[in-house]
Amino acid sequence: MLGQMMTQPLLISSLIDHAERYHGQTEVISVETDGMVTETNWAEVAQNARRLGSALTQLGLQPQDRVGTLAWNNRRHLEIYFGVSGAGFVCHTINPRLFPEQLTYIINHAKDRVLLFDATFLPLVAGLQEHLTEVEHFVMMGPRSDEALSQVPNVKFYDELVATGDSEFEWPDLDENTASSLCYTSGTTGNPKGVLYSHRSTLLHSFGSNTRDVIGFSAMDVVMPVVPMFHVNAWGSPYACAMSGSRMVLPGPGLHGEALVNLVDTYGVTLALGVPTIWQGLLAHAAKSGSRLTSLVRTVIGGAACPPSMIETFRETYGVDTVHAWGMSEMSPLGTTNFPLAKHRDLPIDDQHKLRESQGRPPYGVELKIVDDDGNALPQDGETQGDLMVRGHWVLDSYFQMQDEDLLDNGWFATGDVATLDPDGYMTIRDRSKDIIKSGGEWISSVELENIAVAHPKLATAAVVGVEHPKWGERPILVAVKAEGEDPDEPELLGFFEGKIASWQVPDKVVFVEALPLNATGKVLKRTLREDFKDTLMG
Ligand code: AMP
Repeated sequence: MLGQMMTQPLLISSLIDHAERYHGQTEVISVETDGMVTETNWAEVAQNARRLGSALTQLGLQPQDRVGTLAWNNRRHLEIYFGVSGAGFVCHTINPRLFPEQLTYIINHAKDRVLLFDATFLPLVAGLQEHLTEVEHFVMMGPRSDEALSQVPNVKFYDELVATGDSEFEWPDLDENTASSLCYTSGTTGNPKGVLYSHRSTLLHSFGSNTRDVIGFSAMDVVMPVVPMFHVNAWGSPYACAMSGSRMVLPGPGLHGEALVNLVDTYGVTLALGVPTIWQGLLAHAAKSGSRLTSLVRTVIGGAACPPSMIETFRETYGVDTVHAWGMSEMSPLGTTNFPLAKHRDLPIDDQHKLRESQGRPPYGVELKIVDDDGNALPQDGETQGDLMVRGHWVLDSYFQMQDEDLLDNGWFATGDVATLDPDGYMTIRDRSKDIIKSGGEWISSVELENIAVAHPKLATAAVVGVEHPKWGERPILVAVKAEGEDPDEPELLGFFEGKIASWQVPDKVVFVEALPLNATGKVLKRTLREDFKDTLMG
């Protein structure tokens, strides 16, 4: 015998055991659906997770059965994350903002046997229940409620269910490749597709995200995931925070600027994560209320391109460092985060700031390459753009219950993003491949134009889409939402692009709208804009 190291499976139950044992008294703050704030800690979360795992086992669930959730970021949802996966079932988080038909499809396709839901979604569940043919147990996340009973007969109540469970329940000894959680992507075409994460991929993703140059959650941090727990597991933050013993602030249903600023200031949030649209609201309210966001040290912004002007406002006005991150459901989601390298230390400060604008570098565990239309690798020179391909420890191999032999290309997954890579591995997303604008044979990045437009002080937000053009095939137009109390005109906005990009890239027109259409995860629905304005340049 040569002698070797122990082999312990990488299991989600070990994360909550660790948090209970070494960070048991560390607080978890939770905004409930009625707006009340409750305070619990990792030890109580662990106890309730075990009780839930035990109660679901007693209900007769079999290994790998799916348990759906329609819920906000709150403490019960956190218990469910660990209780369901820890007990060997699959925690299927569902995006409640989807259309009812999509919800029905997803819940039936996943064959959820149990559906746990927040009180907010009682009317939604009441309307859907007759179509949810696989669900045997509807469980409302809270105490007993007569109103719920009148709308969903036989509904169970989470607090009662958990009370029937055993707090000494022993987590099953699972193979680390066992599936742990499921999340459907909000695909813009066809039916949503499920991404099935494993215990192993989740643990490796947590180790990865806890390294210093990725996110690096710490026991000193107060972490507020504003990114929903129904969207790629809140970027894996509940698992990574259990691993690091961070305090958590779970913001519940109210995600508007005022509520978020209050949470930051009241609970001393040091690290917050979310999509750019969320931070627009927070920054607008902070400016209005005079909050200095004193406690906040870092924001991790991703899910859509973070405009440089937002990074700058956080830095210059609030002293907050923004980590620009890129990822996708199929990648658990972390693909890149933007941190500098040692050689950047001596660069002029403006150059250092400029470097922080891109989507960043892949951590150990993720590999990136760009390819042309024939799949040939393209140079990583920071200029050439191509289709972005990924592979790694926490990247999808195949979609849930879908056989697609052609999904991977020699072991690489095609992200659908168009990007450049520089020699150090810094990646810049130019566009989604379907959003990039092709004007007379030249490519125009809608992201680049948007980054410029949203820095205009008289705009609240803006999007750029390509629409049909009689001469050039396609040309960009700017769809703009005016800032409160401002009334910019077209020449003023188009003039703002001058000197910042080549003149042929400047949008042909500005259309003003009251609000941009957003999808269920807060991303701008460019397809809708393209349809709404398709003839704008044809007359
Ligand atoms: P989802 O799977 O819904 O999280 O969407 C993933 C997609 O969001 C990616 O393929 C990108 O197109 C987009 N995305 C995510 N993060 C960024 C970012 N930082 N910059 C630009 N696009 C992003």
